[in-house]
Amino acid sequence: MTAPIRIAVVGLGKIARDQHLPAIAATSNFDLVATVSRQGDGVDGVPHFRDIEQLAASGTVVDAVALCTPPQVRRSIAQFAIAQGWHVFLEKPPGATLAEVIALRDAAAAAGVSLFASWHSRYADGVEPARDWLAGRTIHRATITWREDVRVWHPGQDWIWEPGGFGVFDPGINALSIATRILPHPFFVETAELDVPENRAAPIAARVAFRDTAGAPIAMDLDFRQEGPQSWDIVVETDAGTLTLAQGGGVLSIDGGTAPAADTDLHGEYPGLYRRFAAIVRAGVSDVDVSPLRLVGDIYLRARHHVVDPFHE
Ligand code: NAP
Repeated sequence: MTAPIRIAVVGLGKIARDQHLPAIAATSNFDLVATVSRQGDGVDGVPHFRDIEQLAASGTVVDAVALCTPPQVRRSIAQFAIAQGWHVFLEKPPGATLAEVIALRDAAAAAGVSLFASWHSRYADGVEPARDWLAGRTIHRATITWREDVRVWHPGQDWIWEPGGFGVFDPGINALSIATRILPHPFFVETAELDVPENRAAPIAARVAFRDTAGAPIAMDLDFRQEGPQSWDIVVETDAGTLTLAQGGGVLSIDGGTAPAADTDLHGEYPGLYRRFAAIVRAGVSDVDVSPLRLVGDIYLRARHHVVDPFHE
């Protein structure tokens, strides 16, 4: 039997507690050997440290770390972990800039450790069937609608509104991680409009027009101010009918006929991510696809910015 990978989780916030800790507890591929967070006492029975330097100094034997902090502080923690010879799982988005993620990928390769730039939405139930169905089809157009209530999903997360926090692209990059996986051709930004609250540094809404290399238009509509029903939908019109991927990739339908069961609470996504992380660690490779982050960077390069009403929680 293969020995479990000894893992520490860094940044015990919402996603670490909701998804990482349960996914690690449920698999024999990993053993949780430490937690790292500036606040709180961590998890009962598991050594807890205030920062990653304290973890390294403690002599705890660690093979890998999962970094669940906001993106702005992730690079330096990842760099330190790689220097210890630890494999690194990066929450999405993998960094605050493209160049820092490339630098981490190169550092991991030089150190002989695995780097995983995770995209959890790609592990939703409908994503691989959608990719298979779209392969070889002619795409007429696609629309991406990601409209959610930031007060419900990101309460108190001030970092999201700071530079490098991505604003509405924090969920929007999940849509792009799915679109770059399922659409058969690469696509690029033509125009973008960003609405930035006058008291914040990051956009609260965005409208982006992409085109794929075969000429099909792709329209994306993101909004953090959605009250009532929430939308995380991708619709692709093709020569063989219309594919709809709803609920963040969880529900696939073709011409209105619903296929697999809903997976609306990310239940299958994190076990899938940890299976993938174990596989790349054991194979001695990295998995770093920067295409969703590159598109967000390109959106900022092409965007017209509009100042809109201030946002207060
Ligand atoms: P969060 O609740 O704010 O947790 C982040 C944790 O990181 C904090 O609890 C904080 O713990 C730690 N941290 C370290 N340095 C920090 C700093 N300078 N500023 C703020 N926190 C700092 O955020 P989250 O929702 O878990 O999101 C973390 C990452 O996971 C983001 O990249 C996000 O996109 C991704 N993600 C989130 C979700 C979701 O549903 N929330 C889903 C998938 C992915 P200490 O103060 O104890 O150090």
